[in-house]
Amino acid sequence: MSRSAKVIDLRSLRLEETRELVLAHGHPAYRAEQLWRWVHDKGVRSLDQATNLPAALRSSLAAASVTLSALQLAEVQRSTDGTRKMRITTSDGRSIESVLIPDGDKMTQCISSQVGCALDCQFCATAKLGLMRNLSAGEIVDQVYLAKELLAVEAPGQRITNIVYMGMGEPLHNFDEVMQSLHILTHDLGANLSHRRITVSTVGLVPGLRKLAKSDLRPNLAVSLNASCDEIRDQVMPINKKYPIAVLLQTLREFPLEKRRRITFEYVLLAGVNDSDADAARVAKLLAGFPCKLNIIPWNPHPLAPYKRPSPEAIERFQNRAKALGLATYLRTPRGDDIAAACGQLANREQQGLVQLRS
Ligand code: SF4
Repeated sequence: MSRSAKVIDLRSLRLEETRELVLAHGHPAYRAEQLWRWVHDKGVRSLDQATNLPAALRSSLAAASVTLSALQLAEVQRSTDGTRKMRITTSDGRSIESVLIPDGDKMTQCISSQVGCALDCQFCATAKLGLMRNLSAGEIVDQVYLAKELLAVEAPGQRITNIVYMGMGEPLHNFDEVMQSLHILTHDLGANLSHRRITVSTVGLVPGLRKLAKSDLRPNLAVSLNASCDEIRDQVMPINKKYPIAVLLQTLREFPLEKRRRITFEYVLLAGVNDSDADAARVAKLLAGFPCKLNIIPWNPHPLAPYKRPSPEAIERFQNRAKALGLATYLRTPRGDDIAAACGQLANREQQGLVQLRS
């Protein structure tokens, strides 16, 4: 094997791809299922732990630059409300964050799809990092396996019930790896999560939405709206200049939703920017007739953006107004804001340091 042989990450492969690999190494197909279970069910960190695989297969894979990427859990912060924020390092020394949010019987994990983000939403701490790189499918799913390990130690019996691609990064900006990770996470020999319990949250990248509409696996969709008109959305989310509200909503109208499923529109409420009566009326008009709900998220403060969270009265007024105009609304209670784990606050300290050094 030449030194320039392409490295293949086993954790990023689907079962059928693993099968092809195993056959190419001269071993029977059933070994692929064993390998798959070790990687995606038992979550081994190294192939040496896959003890029922023939040593000949393991050494043949290693000789062909087939590796098993493994993230490392660097730090866990625990909120008084039970939320846990995990700082995780990649094999090239980058840091990402993932958050575990308990809610009654549910345990939702918010996972990252990129290191940093290129989208520059003005209210978001991650945006200040810029985009460092995409995560591979293996790195996306490994966040879930690390969280499972953590729960097994700290909360035995609790399991992850829901996944949201709402951590660092814009999932549709890393479309292929995100789709690959969805296939892996929903496979019945792996984490076996239903696609109905997985939500991809996007700013509304129109080409990505069109590709997702045609894919064989469609998770729940959450779209960050955050404004009632282009003038405000242009300022808050610069991507709006490329895909304005009318284009975004038309794309979503054409999106093939399964029966009884709704699109969630996220609306980060910023004092004096998008929280007036007129905003509520415009949002209700924009979304009239859509199978949707409006998730109102009072802005979670962080020092990297110049906004303010509206007062409780202003939040209530906005929600009541939107409700009275026929919108199904849900007010998101901030979770983990004492450890900067709430929505829009993810940008770990080390990488904030990098940003400051760069500027
Ligand atoms: S809100 Fe999401 S898409 Fe926008 S900058 Fe932050 S991480 Fe990126």
